[in-house]
Amino acid sequence: MSIEVRNVTKRFGDFVALEDVTVSLPTGQLTALLGPSGGGKSTLLRIIAGLDTADEGTIDIEGTEATNLPARKRNVGFVFQHYAVFKHMTVAKNVAFGLEIRKRPKDEIEHRVDELLRLVHLQQFAHRLPSQLSGGQRQRMALARALAVEPKVLLLDEPFGALDAKVRRELREWLRRLHDEVHVTTVFVTHDQEEALEVSDEIVVINEGRVEQIGSPDDLYDHPANDFVMGFLGEVT
Ligand code: ADP
Ligand code: MG
Repeated sequence: MSIEVRNVTKRFGDFVALEDVTVSLPTGQLTALLGPSGGGKSTLLRIIAGLDTADEGTIDIEGTEATNLPARKRNVGFVFQHYAVFKHMTVAKNVAFGLEIRKRPKDEIEHRVDELLRLVHLQQFAHRLPSQLSGGQRQRMALARALAVEPKVLLLDEPFGALDAKVRRELREWLRRLHDEVHVTTVFVTHDQEEALEVSDEIVVINEGRVEQIGSPDDLYDHPANDFVMGFLGEVT
C-alpha cells in the first residue's frame, strides 16, 4: 500500500507544469517534495489530493485507483501555509469540525478532540479562539483538525512557510515526533532544503515539472544525481 503517481503530466495552456512524473510513496512514510519555487510541487500535491486533475497519468491512494475520485472521497487531510481556520470557533470546535459534519456521536467527538489536542500539545488552549494562539500553535491546531477524521494520507503544503525561523525549527522537530507517533502517510512540500533533510524519510526533488532525484536525505546529500540537486542542496546553511 502506498501512493502511486504514474506518468502524470499537467499542462496549463501551453505551459507544462508536470512532465511524466512517477513516484511511489510507501505507506507510513514522511516524504518531502523539495524544489525551487515554481517547480510544480503544489501542483503535484493538488493532483494527489484531487483538487486538480492530471492531463495524463494515474494516481492510486492506498490501493485504490483515485485518478477520477473527487477530493472528498480520497480520505486525505490537508494543511496549507495559510490555513483557513474558523475564526469564531474555539480551538476544540475547529478540531471537532470534521467529526461533527460526519455526525459522529457527541462523546466520541469529545474523546477524540481531547486526544488530538494532547497530541499537538494544545490541551490547555481548547477554549481559546484561533486569534488567541501564536502562528505555530495555529498550525498545530490545523494539523489536529486534519488528523481528526483519521485520513489515510496527510498532505502539507509549506505548512510552516509563513512562520519565523525559530518557530519553523521547533515545528519541524515536532512534526517529526508527531509522525513517529501517528505513522500516517505524509507528503510535505517545502522549498527549504534544511527542513526536507531534517524532517523526511525520503526526498523527491522536483524542478521545472520533472523529478530530478528520489532518495533518503543521506543519499541525496552524499550522492546528488546532478548539478541541479547538488547546487540546490549546497545552499544548506
Ligand atoms: P511550486 O509549488 O513548486 O512553487 P506550483 O506547482 O505552484 O509550483 O507551480 C508550478 C508552475 O505552474 C508555476 O510556473 C505556476 O505559475 C504554474 N501554475 C500553477 N498553477 C497554475 C494555474 N492554475 N494556472 C496557470 N499556471 C499555473
Ligand atoms: Mg507551492
